[in-house]
Amino acid sequence: MPSTPSASSHDTPPENQRPGRNFIQQLIDADLAAGRYGGRVHTRFPPEPNGYLHIGHAKSICLNAGLAREYGGRFNLRFDDTNPAKEEQEYVDSIQEDIRWLGADWEDRLFFASDYFDQLYEWAVQLIQAGRAYVCDLDAEAMREHRGTLTEPGRACCYRERSVEENLDLFARMKAGEFADGTRTLRAKIDMASPNLNLRDPVMYRIKRAHHHRTGDTWCIYPSYDFTHGQCDSLEGITHSICTLEFENHRPLYDWFCDALGIHHPQQIEFARLNLSYTVMSKRKLLQLVTENHVSGWDDPRLLTLRGLRRRGYTATSIRAFCERIGVAKQYSVIDMAWLEDAIREDLNAHAPRAMGVLRPLKVVLTNLPADAERICQAANHPQQPDMGTREVPLTREIYIEQSDFLEDAPKKFFRLKPGGAVRLRSAGIIECGEMIKNAAGEVTEVHCTFDPDLTRKVKGTIHWVSARHAISAEVRLYDHLFAAENPDQTAEGGTFLDNLNPHSLEVLTTAKLEPSLGQVASGAHYQFERTGYFYVDPVDSQPGQPVFNRTATLRDSWAKAK
Ligand code: ATP
Ligand code: MG
Repeated sequence: MPSTPSASSHDTPPENQRPGRNFIQQLIDADLAAGRYGGRVHTRFPPEPNGYLHIGHAKSICLNAGLAREYGGRFNLRFDDTNPAKEEQEYVDSIQEDIRWLGADWEDRLFFASDYFDQLYEWAVQLIQAGRAYVCDLDAEAMREHRGTLTEPGRACCYRERSVEENLDLFARMKAGEFADGTRTLRAKIDMASPNLNLRDPVMYRIKRAHHHRTGDTWCIYPSYDFTHGQCDSLEGITHSICTLEFENHRPLYDWFCDALGIHHPQQIEFARLNLSYTVMSKRKLLQLVTENHVSGWDDPRLLTLRGLRRRGYTATSIRAFCERIGVAKQYSVIDMAWLEDAIREDLNAHAPRAMGVLRPLKVVLTNLPADAERICQAANHPQQPDMGTREVPLTREIYIEQSDFLEDAPKKFFRLKPGGAVRLRSAGIIECGEMIKNAAGEVTEVHCTFDPDLTRKVKGTIHWVSARHAISAEVRLYDHLFAAENPDQTAEGGTFLDNLNPHSLEVLTTAKLEPSLGQVASGAHYQFERTGYFYVDPVDSQPGQPVFNRTATLRDSWAKAK
């Protein structure tokens, strides 16, 4: 047995130099080595409840929960619910369900930014008292004008020098509902000339009469995200506040608030958000796809929402493996969708029972079998896992094979069924091609073959099949990328991402013929249909005895050589 280095062994590299560590682990290792935060690691996932979670969120969840697990630390779930106009209980519920499904556990640490509204209000008052916040009467337009640009400093407005007393009075009256929406804000008094625009007196509170899904109508002023996020992390004792790169410029502001209030300082660490080819990830665009019926709902199997992926047949294991494999980086990049498909293939290849299903049937008559013949063939449920057992598959005089497994004018290298050729029927025997029956258009509608049960005979090709008499008819849904362009946001002048929708992203097959064992399947079960892909029993549209199968992924390699 190889020896595992013990923690005390002198040749164990110091924690902060362990090889193969990503930059976040290295930063945390260094913090631990320096005794920062008393050796604690506490992370969180902070979704805004204004949409459903997608694969990008999964990356953040796996990262944060994974770090907590790795370091024996803690992981919180906190909803950043500071924008009541766009947030709903429906999203709060679905987000929790999706995170649980993914396997991340926040234990009893479920929080809401709105839990801290009283505390945030007190802190705002404290900053006013310290002369570090003021009530501003500029409207949004004027505020933008005063703010300056990246190349020009901003300008102070006349309200910046209001007295502490006046600010306290006005802020209390904002809270009491004396002023109309949008007429006043509370702003941090930082630096109107800062090169970082986020520090040019950012808004801390705005007046907005909106019903909040948790606090109801208690408040008519709401804290801004920037005045909320860092302090929530601080209140929860978060040590490493991991977020995406667009918040890098906000870090000095969060630090300013924590310093000004004299409260615990989490370390913010930014990483590049996940982008995948052939898809969009912005919640606004996902919402548009759903509300304009370009997809069937948030769980449409073509969407990379966690519900969509789940309904497509993706497992939580495969998504975690994908997130692990793509790692974290500081550089922006686009991950090829093939990585995701590889992850699910790997998982299902190991676990999904095999079965036979003919997606586009062509009738084959085995002319040397009597009409009432029924041969029982034993088929292995998994080629590498004998303990998954075998099942009986009936063979009869009339069977279906895949249309694409027969070619009348076949090239030499075509090792499936062709005139004068022979092919193996998986688990049954060999068939030799005889007469072809054609319709008026000259298309082959039926092939007559002779059957040879000799399982030891060698032929080059093996195909799947089902008995016509026993076959169950099922709806099978095949999916392709939702967008035809690798980057859907790249459009012609004046176009939108919708122009890049792939018109062939969904193909519904209603004439598929499946082996009889697939008639009684559990909703949510996974199968590999030999040679055609991994399929998932759709939990929404399947009826008892009438399953609907969603293709999760195609097979990378066919088992053409398998027996
Ligand atoms: P929007 O699409 O409106 O920008 P969002 O996706 O950032 O919103 P949030 O609810 O704020 O939505 O996200 C919660 C957390 O998930 C944040 O910490 C954010 O950094 C992270 N996150 C969101 N999208 C991705 C992504 N594509 N890759 C990695 N992390 C992401
Ligand atoms: Mg966000």
